Amino acid sequence: MATKSRLLVIVTFMLLALTAATIVNISLNFRDYSINSAVEKSQMAANIVKDGLTAHMVNGMMDKRQYFLDKIETSNNIKSLWIARGEKVTAQYGEGLSSEKMRDAIDEEVLKTGQSVQKITEDASNTVLRVTIPYKASTPADSTDCISCHNVERGDTLGIISMEFDISDMRSSGMITILKILGINLLFIVVVLFLINYFVTPYMNLFSNLQNGIRKAYRGDFSHQFASKVGGDAKYVVEHMNSLFRKMQETFGDIKNNLATFIPQGSVSQSDPLHEAKTIISELSDIYKFKKTIELDASKDEVYTRIIDILRLKYNVGHFAFYEVNNVTSERKLIYSTEEENICFEKTNKNAMECRAHRTGTVTISTEFPNLCRACVSQDIDYVCIPFTINHDISLTVSMTSDNRDEVELMKKNISSIRHYLEAAKPVIESQILMERLRDTSLRDGMTGLYNRRFLEEVIDKIMSQANRNKDTYAVLMLDIDFFKMVNDTYGHDMGDKVILALSKVLKTSIRESDLAIRYGGEEFLVLLSNATDDGVMQVSNKIHSEFAALSFDVGTSEPLKKTLSIGIAKFPTDGDTIWKCIKYADTALYEAKNTGRNKIVEFEKAMFKSGDDF
Ligand code: GH3
Ligand code: MG
Ligand code: MG
Repeated sequence: MATKSRLLVIVTFMLLALTAATIVNISLNFRDYSINSAVEKSQMAANIVKDGLTAHMVNGMMDKRQYFLDKIETSNNIKSLWIARGEKVTAQYGEGLSSEKMRDAIDEEVLKTGQSVQKITEDASNTVLRVTIPYKASTPADSTDCISCHNVERGDTLGIISMEFDISDMRSSGMITILKILGINLLFIVVVLFLINYFVTPYMNLFSNLQNGIRKAYRGDFSHQFASKVGGDAKYVVEHMNSLFRKMQETFGDIKNNLATFIPQGSVSQSDPLHEAKTIISELSDIYKFKKTIELDASKDEVYTRIIDILRLKYNVGHFAFYEVNNVTSERKLIYSTEEENICFEKTNKNAMECRAHRTGTVTISTEFPNLCRACVSQDIDYVCIPFTINHDISLTVSMTSDNRDEVELMKKNISSIRHYLEAAKPVIESQILMERLRDTSLRDGMTGLYNRRFLEEVIDKIMSQANRNKDTYAVLMLDIDFFKMVNDTYGHDMGDKVILALSKVLKTSIRESDLAIRYGGEEFLVLLSNATDDGVMQVSNKIHSEFAALSFDVGTSEPLKKTLSIGIAKFPTDGDTIWKCIKYADTALYEAKNTGRNKIVEFEKAMFKSGDDF
């Protein structure tokens, strides 16, 4: 029920209750008052009759008493009045007039008991008060001594007087009074209700207007303008609310616009714009912290790990793979996967162009179209794949998978948010790539593309500790082209470069990915073979040796140039307990090869070591 109706009902109820209480109270009092005044009147009449009769007796006019009684009756508006004699008076003076007899049981009872009786008789149209009062032989204090004439004891009942009063008028005038009060009260109620309605309605309207505005504000809409016809304090409230709402609307619009510059609008879908702003600010704050953290990360891989953690811990993605794509070669590299098996094309396939998300540059969601990505090998699993371009060379792909539709919906919801993180990571990844490239340049030999000696110095400690931990073995091969100086001297420096380049290619094709080839000096190379058997070391050495020897260099003469090389080998940890030592020993073996005719492979032996050469 509306507040106003409730108020009107309560007021009506209270006024009606008040009216009822007043009427009950008045009617009770009115009845008492009517009866009391009739009784008083009867008392008065009884005294007059008593005194009158006494006077008649004293003056010897008892025969005229009926006239007197009739007069009393008519002049006092008494319905009927009669007297009756007691036994002793009857015995002394006889029966008296025919009207002076007991008329009913009440008369008899009063004569017998000497106690007054009053009784009200009511029927539909009349109300009659009957009063019967005894006359007793007077006491000595009375002015007229009854004993002087009557043969009675003091206190004896001489007779009675009975009167009947018609108090019907009193009842009807009571009813009229009550009706008048009722009428006045009802009129009063109507007026009160009208006044309440008249004065309260504008406040009620204002109240519901305020409620509407506040309800809208709760949803973040401050466009509501309040209006009221009420003046005074209400007007003050309305004006202040309007100004507050206007201010909120403006401020809020500014906040939204400012936020939109950070995060595209609509990316956080909330029906409540205030809540949306809160969510955006909290996301911005998280992204800011994320960015600050990755800016201090040492490498691109660390940044990637951070993104993976965000996917795992913030977005609770249970199944996903994270790829780095080389945009130039379209080669895709798996950085991280929660799964053993890839749902995309077979593990060996690294062609990123088969990935729809990467190829089209759009988010690929399996629930939107059946068999959307042809590269997906699983029918039962849904995927949400987000491509993200870092720069001209590098792209990323986040491939989230699930067999649960709710999870997929959640992934879809988080797409733009995840992209914000990638966006934040983009400049950091770019600068890390640049740094890596710079580093790579300083650690690689420009001509051959092989790592240089500086690189070896940087990684050797890492390799050593890893070797100790994993019980890895290494074979160190030191290679040097025989009589290389002669090439430069005879055919020129460019030809010398060609020979060096040719040897570097032989090295690259002869070793495994886990092995390392380094341009150690001018035409001197170092190869680190990891976990190779003695035979394996020899095989690789022979392969390099023979493949290089088989090369022919066109020097513009009939006889092409052919070169050989010498190789010295030392093994870690059998020959030396550090790789540096083994490099030294391999060099010693190479020296031995040179000294003993060149074009050969020599393994290090302790005997080659001259005293004083030790570390
Ligand atoms: P040995 O059989 O004793 O090794 O005789 P060698 O002539 O090869 O002697 P050595 O190894 O000392 O010769 C190194 C020469 O390699 C000296 C230098 O001019 C030449 N050289 C070093 N770096 C380069 C380079 O980058 N390009 C060219 N063309 N020559 C280089
Ligand atoms: Mg040489
Ligand atoms: Mg040399």
